[in-house]
Amino acid sequence: ENTTPRDVDDVFQIQLHDKGFPFLAVASTLDKLQETKSRLSSIEILSDLFLAILLKSQEDLLPAVFLCTNRIAAPWEAVELGVGGSLISKAIMEVTSVSKETMRSLYKQYGDLGDVAQHCCSRLQKLFYSSKDGLTVQQVYQCLKKMAQTTGTKSVSRKKDIIKSLLVTSRCPEARYIVRILSQNMRVGAVEKTVIAALARAFILLDAIRCSKEEGWTSREQIQRYSTERKEEIKLLVERMNRAFSECGDWKKIITFLAEDPHAWEQLNEYCKLQPGCPLKPQLGKITKSVEEMIQDIGTDSDICCEWKYDGQRCQVHILGNGSVQLFSRNLEDMTSKYPDVVTNFSRIPGVVDAILDAEIVAVDPSNHQMYLPFQLLSTRARKDVELDQITVQVRVIVFDLMFFNGTCLIEHSLRQRRQLLEQHFQSTHVSLPETLISSNASEVEEWLNQAVSNGCEGLMCKALDGPNSVYYPSKRSQGWSKIKKDYVEGISDTLDLVPIAAWWGNGRKAGWLSPFLLACYYDGEFQSVCKVMSGFSDEEYRSLTEFYLQDKTLSEKPTYYKVDDSLRPALWLQPCQVWEIRGAELTLSPIHQAAIGFADSQRGISLRFPRFLRIRHDKS
Ligand code: ATP
Repeated sequence: ENTTPRDVDDVFQIQLHDKGFPFLAVASTLDKLQETKSRLSSIEILSDLFLAILLKSQEDLLPAVFLCTNRIAAPWEAVELGVGGSLISKAIMEVTSVSKETMRSLYKQYGDLGDVAQHCCSRLQKLFYSSKDGLTVQQVYQCLKKMAQTTGTKSVSRKKDIIKSLLVTSRCPEARYIVRILSQNMRVGAVEKTVIAALARAFILLDAIRCSKEEGWTSREQIQRYSTERKEEIKLLVERMNRAFSECGDWKKIITFLAEDPHAWEQLNEYCKLQPGCPLKPQLGKITKSVEEMIQDIGTDSDICCEWKYDGQRCQVHILGNGSVQLFSRNLEDMTSKYPDVVTNFSRIPGVVDAILDAEIVAVDPSNHQMYLPFQLLSTRARKDVELDQITVQVRVIVFDLMFFNGTCLIEHSLRQRRQLLEQHFQSTHVSLPETLISSNASEVEEWLNQAVSNGCEGLMCKALDGPNSVYYPSKRSQGWSKIKKDYVEGISDTLDLVPIAAWWGNGRKAGWLSPFLLACYYDGEFQSVCKVMSGFSDEEYRSLTEFYLQDKTLSEKPTYYKVDDSLRPALWLQPCQVWEIRGAELTLSPIHQAAIGFADSQRGISLRFPRFLRIRHDKS
């Protein structure tokens, strides 16, 4: 392979070695993506890579897509790498003989473990380059899968050995991306939307190349011409792929279908569609600041279904034709083993062969199942392998939508029709529909909102019952679902999702625990400080958060992509690995905090007054 390190300027010129498509091309593509801010050129760069793979080694496309999107499998397959920053650092040090002190100062310089790995490995890479066969996409992917399957005694050192084997064989800039994939922090904008657009372009171009019946490789000029000629088809396939991805979220199914016959792209949605066992991306609610605004948004041509907005955990219930039941989180992770009691509630319902339901699981008082308890209590349940006879937190399931029923996809039916089926088939001792008022009278809805809040709910979810807004829109914050919370009407419009990035040590009662935490918002690759939070935590939460971060989630230096004023000197910098939901009284301009400088004010950032911790959003990545 006549490439010198970093010399993969044209993915179409890549020569395959026997084992498959070189990972070097993926790494170089990710490097190029990092250098561009334009979405259109990101799509083109990525699409060229996918097309080159399709032309030369089709079976490598799926692993390449997984690697570019920093995944090893679909979210519901529960494949976790289980490696932390310290294990990766040890592997780098052992492979390159770099000392701990040097690692520390390199980290200070780069602020990214991937860049540190690349720096440390580059000497090896130069020395051994000519004798190396190089990594393939399949090798890297299989190593990651092997790592995820490695459990039991000595699993830590076995995982370290796998990382070392990858680093030793790496060429520039492969080490950077091996480490970024391992630490689940790609820092490159290969987001789902870009990947879908890039894949659509690659498949249509593949079809164009095949239709042209030209032998061998076509030129870049031709590629450019085809992409202009087939612009409309590419646009249509993007729409179809978005839909397919929202309904079945399965790269494997979509890619296999298109790779087999790219010419059949128009049939994609007939093949990749909603099906029990494969979760769809849930519809979301649009923020509304007042009841009047909500009524205006939904429109007066439909009845409005005002449901209580329960404070629990979202759950997609799948009843499969074989009688089994699977439960998925908002993030599409399989949580069947967390709720064996819920599974029982949906097993063998007369008249139900298969179904997909949208629901909220809420903690209830064991002596009164109509009395709802806060989410905090529900979150004390173990996250998996819960035994029926060990359940301490009792729950009730509020079913609010039905997307599939007895072989028929219902997402394009009206909410009124879907609710009728829910009422007929899904009400039992522990399952019910939400408390509902059907009205478009502002003062009635206002009163209903007060009742919802006084019964422990967050507010209302108001939905169009009929008409085009009443269909179920997977993955969208659509006009047909408006959320109204009491706080919206009274003050700041919503809770914020922020990321803890640093912490100090607590005093007095909180000595030994981390408190306060410094919170940041995420924007354009940066974590920008917003506020410190020190209220809303229970003692147990302080204890477990302190243990969680101290175990292996601290950083030796402040990364360059943390935007924090120098006057703030926290005791510890934390890895950005959790999303917290934070309530506050008011947004203010701050001379210290860095969030959104240049938007509301040229010098000052945006901060939050009286922040309070509400919960960890395990369902947000
Ligand atoms: P955000 O997405 O802004 O963080 P959120 O998690 O509250 O906020 P929303 O889209 O605002 O999500 O609201 C929808 C959520 O409300 C659902 O994910 C579900 O968990 C919850 N919910 C509770 N009751 C209902 C209901 N009756 N209908 C729909 N969703 C409900």
